[in-house]
This record gives sequence, structure tokens and C-alpha cells, in this order.
Amino acid sequence: MTDRPMDETADPGGHPDEGLIHAWLDEALDASESERLAAHVRDCSACQARVAEARGLIAGASRIVAELDEVPVGTTLSRARRRLMEAYESLHGERPAERA
Ligand SMILES: [Zn+2]
Repeated sequence: MTDRPMDETADPGGHPDEGLIHAWLDEALDASESERLAAHVRDCSACQARVAEARGLIAGASRIVAELDEVPVGTTLSRARRRLMEAYESLHGERPAERA
């Protein structure tokens, strides 16, 4: 239950950036942030389109990862990784950031 009125006006400066949308779709946000983003997207057709696009990218990436599960034995990890990097690059137009 909430005792605050729903904020129905989408803040023009309050669009989540693409990284946040991806984090949301990955369920990497904490509950309150995730809820805030969901509420914004519900009322914002611009962000609905961006979420749909991000979902498409993630679906594409998942397909690639699934494909990598079926690579023949003997395919080296570095070769599989390079394929994934290339696929990511073609989807996103840039290389994935190296994670430590
Ligand atoms: Zn928005």
C-alpha cells in the first residue's frame, strides 16, 4: 500500500538511459529502482519503444549464447569468445566493455 499519490506525469528529463534499461531487463536493479523504471515505462511510449528494442537485442544475444552452447568440442574458448564479441559488436555497434 502507498499513501503517496501516483505521479502520472512523465518527467521529460527522467528517461532512463539505455544502460539502466538493460540492467532492468537483466533484473539487476534493486526493487525500488526497478519499480520506478517500470512505472515510467508504463506511461512513456518513447521508453516502451526503447525497451522493446533492448529486448530485441537481448533476445539476439541470448540466441548467440545458446548457439555457443552447441559449438563442437575442440572449438577453443577464445574463438567462441571472439564470435560472441563480433556478434555483440554487430548488435550494439560497439565492443562490450571489459569487465574486471
Ligand atoms: Zn521515458
